[in-house]
Amino acid sequence: MELHKIELVADWLKNAHHTVILTGAGMSTESGIPDFRSREGWWKKIDPMTVSTIEALENEYEMFHGFYSLRLEDLTTCQPHKGHKLLSEWEEQGFVSGIITQNVDGFHQEAGNQTVHELHGSLRSIFCSTCGHPADEEAFLNQKACSECQGHLRPDIVLFGEMLPQEVWGQAIRLIEESDLLIVIGSSLQVSPANELPFLTDGKKVIINNEATLLHDQFDLQLVGRAGDVLEVINKQMKGGELT
Ligand code: NAD
Repeated sequence: MELHKIELVADWLKNAHHTVILTGAGMSTESGIPDFRSREGWWKKIDPMTVSTIEALENEYEMFHGFYSLRLEDLTTCQPHKGHKLLSEWEEQGFVSGIITQNVDGFHQEAGNQTVHELHGSLRSIFCSTCGHPADEEAFLNQKACSECQGHLRPDIVLFGEMLPQEVWGQAIRLIEESDLLIVIGSSLQVSPANELPFLTDGKKVIINNEATLLHDQFDLQLVGRAGDVLEVINKQMKGGELT
C-alpha cells in the first residue's frame, strides 16, 4: 500500500468537518457476502438481471425466492468485519458524519453506525408485494404467502426497474452536499443513480477498491486494496501508530 496516500487520507479524515462514506458490495465481501461484479461475484454464477427484477418477482417467483432466500441465509452466518467496526468507531469519535450504502445486508447498523442511509433498501425487512403488509424473515424463508391477502412475500430492497426510496435519496444528497470529504468503499460505480453521488460534493473525493474502476481518475486519491485492510492501516495512521 502506498504509505504517502495513507498519510494523506488519514490527515484529511482528521481535519475534515463533514466526512461521508459511500459503500458498495465490496465493503461486505470480507464478511463472506459475494458482490455482484468481481471474479467471485454473483454475476459470474447467475445474471441478477434475471432474478433481481420486478418481472422475476411477478412471473418467476420460484427463482426470485430461491435467490433471495440464499442471500438472506448468508446473513445468518456472516457478520460485519473489522472495516465495518472501524467505520462505526469513526462515527462515534466524530470523524464520520454518516454512511450512505448500496448494500442491503444491514452490516453498518449491526457494527454500530447510527447514521446509515440504505439507498437500495434492506434484505432484513419483508413485506407483501401485493398489499404491502409486513411479514417476518421466517415466513419468507418458508415461502409462506401473505397472511392478509395470500400475495407473494418479498424483501424490502430496490429491484432493477424500481425507483429508489425518494426520502432516503434526498437525505443522501443533502449529506453529500454538506460534505468536505467523501470516501467511496468497495463499489464498481456502475449502478445508477448511486454512482452519481460522489460527484455532488465540492470536497475531496477518495476511492478505496480492490481494483481500479472506470471512474477512478475522477477521484482526488485512489487506494487499491481490501476495504478492511485499508481502513485498518488508515486508522493506525490516524492514531499515530507505526505503519509497516
Ligand atoms: P459491485 O459488485 O458492482 O462492485 C463491487 C466492487 O467492489 C468491485 O469493483 C470489486 O472489485 C470491489 N471489491 C470486492 N471486494 C472488495 C474488497 N474486499 N475491498 C475493496 N473492494 C472490493 O457492487 P456495487 O457497486 O455495490 O453495486 C452492486 C449492487 O448490488 C448494489 O446495488 C447493491 O445493492 C447490490 N449488492 C449488495 C450486496 C450486499 O448488500 N452486501 C451484495 C451484492 C450486491
